[in-house]
Amino acid sequence: MADYRSMYEELGMDVELHEQLMAGFSQMYPQMILDQPNRPESMSYFDYAYSEMHGARIKELQDHRARGGKVVGFFCLYMPEEIVRAVGGQCIGLCAGAEVGTAEAENVLPRNLCPLIKSFMGFKLTRTCPYFQCSDLVVGETTCDGKKKTYEILNEIVPTYMLEVPQMKSPEDRVLWLEQVKRFKVEVERLTDTQVNQENLGQAIKLLNQRNRVFQRLGATRRANPAPISGKDALLAMLAAINDDPTRCTEKVSNLCDELEARVARGEGVVDPSTPRIMYTGTPTANFKLHHLIETSGGSIVCEDACSGSRFYRILIDETQDGLESQLMAISEKYLEADCAHFTPNNERIENIVRLAREYDVAGVVYGVLHFCHTYAVEFYRVQKALAKIGIPTLLVETDYGQGDVGQLKTRMEAFIEMIGN
Ligand code: SF4
Ligand code: SF4
Repeated sequence: MADYRSMYEELGMDVELHEQLMAGFSQMYPQMILDQPNRPESMSYFDYAYSEMHGARIKELQDHRARGGKVVGFFCLYMPEEIVRAVGGQCIGLCAGAEVGTAEAENVLPRNLCPLIKSFMGFKLTRTCPYFQCSDLVVGETTCDGKKKTYEILNEIVPTYMLEVPQMKSPEDRVLWLEQVKRFKVEVERLTDTQVNQENLGQAIKLLNQRNRVFQRLGATRRANPAPISGKDALLAMLAAINDDPTRCTEKVSNLCDELEARVARGEGVVDPSTPRIMYTGTPTANFKLHHLIETSGGSIVCEDACSGSRFYRILIDETQDGLESQLMAISEKYLEADCAHFTPNNERIENIVRLAREYDVAGVVYGVLHFCHTYAVEFYRVQKALAKIGIPTLLVETDYGQGDVGQLKTRMEAFIEMIGN
């Protein structure tokens, strides 16, 4: 990797602490990802993208800013990316997934808060995330009480714009959400000093639909038995997409799909066809911990109901809308179709999980919940019940981003996968 030290200094980062963080990633990556057998050759791009996620990609974003462009950081699927792309802005997912700044986060947040919130706050407080440091605006949302209150504190450090995502999907909620999307358009126009119009918004809708379609294609290959790609590699491609340039990402995922479709045609896969097929659902996985545990305990992850999975690419926006007003309406409707656990009732998620379980012929479901994430933890009851009705067992695991529980989780995963394998 090139030396990006001066770029990190320009971004006001804690360079030494960042080096320690990257050393941890470099140690983890070969054993979790590179050592997997029979990986598709096209994954080499995603290995490169991962190795340069804090290097070449940040340089691209900084070059974009030097030309007067803006970078918008976001945390949640409900951020209408099309509006930012329409006016030439770059969108980047501000992830969590590491404990590097947890102690600093606990100086301003309660200890008994979900690790995802403490992780992103920790990244900002310790100045170890270059994506955070190069964001001109951060977009938060009201999908969870812990997050929405944390954004008030975050706003003291970095400009944080709030989107009010409704809790229900009634006609009144739809009106509220459409107004939120329009208000966000005005904010983005102010930030970029550029007007959103029918033409640029239409192009952005097409661009992101193309990216999402190619992920749908990738998802479809995983219906085959044996699966042509591991769950960890599919997750790697999806996590890369959140921060990559959409045109380049579409091309690289398309190449990967060509390879996977050829594998499926030849009946080739990454595991033996008798390997138990698993769906992952629950809180989004911002790191590989649970995927790695499942796939080193004898399971093969073939689909995900999560924002780091099919929820991210499932819904496409109608490209045929005529006029800005209709386009904004189509965008607002599209995003409300997503079935995050914060909605009540959330029957769509239950139905979708049952549909995925059948389509992907899964033998069991692993339901991951981050500690103190109440919406996903409570929704487990209804998910498990619906899956039990169609004869599919579910394993609930509560975890965080640390390694302290890995031993006991592995024992439980192995027992679960052995049971469903029988
Ligand atoms: S799980 Fe819900 S809150 Fe989290 S990113 Fe997805 S939509 Fe947003
Ligand atoms: S994992 Fe749950 S508690 Fe944590 S930020 Fe997401 S929705 Fe909120």
